[in-house]
Amino acid sequence: MPPRSRAKGATVLALANQKGGVAKTTSVASLGAAFAELGKRVLLVDLDPQACLTFSLGIDPDEVEASIHDVLTGKADLANVIHECADGVDLVPSSIELAGTESVLLGRPGREYILQEVLAGVAADYDIILLDCSPSLGVLTLNALTAARGLIIPMPCEMLGHRGVGQLLDTVRDVKRILNKKLTVIGVLPTMYDSRSAHQQDVLADVGERYSIPVLAPPIPRTVRFAEAPAVGRSILETARTSKGAQAYRAVAKDVLSRL
Ligand code: ADP
Ligand code: MG
Repeated sequence: MPPRSRAKGATVLALANQKGGVAKTTSVASLGAAFAELGKRVLLVDLDPQACLTFSLGIDPDEVEASIHDVLTGKADLANVIHECADGVDLVPSSIELAGTESVLLGRPGREYILQEVLAGVAADYDIILLDCSPSLGVLTLNALTAARGLIIPMPCEMLGHRGVGQLLDTVRDVKRILNKKLTVIGVLPTMYDSRSAHQQDVLADVGERYSIPVLAPPIPRTVRFAEAPAVGRSILETARTSKGAQAYRAVAKDVLSRL
């Protein structure tokens, strides 16, 4: 295994997009496994009440004793909620209770800083912490953007031409101004790429100029392999080690590291 990074505190990266079904969770699981393959100590945090990341790593969110909900509402210590997973990554699971977390936090001063504060307690134990956001721009996602040093925006190639990225970038601008000056957009991650589509090739070619933000490479190909992976509690890097999708995520992981 390559030597581990000696960086003092983990680099926190949020994967966010207020749209659902754009491969946020798939990208968190796959990039997490890819960083682990590179010898990084990786922590994944499931910030979506739907708990798809938790499921996909083989943990039943209904069975967990405590989840990120308990951590954010002050009922549990983060260190006691971490699960070791088969893919060589650690996970802070979600649970359905997370659907009520935002209303619990609403009356609290400094509610956007809670995740940042609790992650600081384990930052020395990890090289990279990936935050899997829910499809909204609510308090949980604001917590993620406040805790993060970098933002990755997964986006299916067929949606790259739409306006959705603009709205997220407006939020990022507000977060930078008010909550987290250090936040930078690492880039858009083009997902579900169909290389036979001339239209997708075209939008991929000009998305960087359209939003003037970096575009991570290579694009992640659309493949049925991704639908199969979560059923067995492992990412595509384990279930289809040499597939094009797995190779693409490994290459994107290196691209991300080169931009940090
Ligand atoms: P999000 O977290 O943004 O809601 P998911 O990661 O859950 O998105 O992905 C949505 C669906 O798309 C899932 O069923 C997943 O298996 C599928 N999917 C993700 N990436 C790909 C891909 N590259 N090719 C085909 N299907 C994919
Ligand atoms: Mg998801």
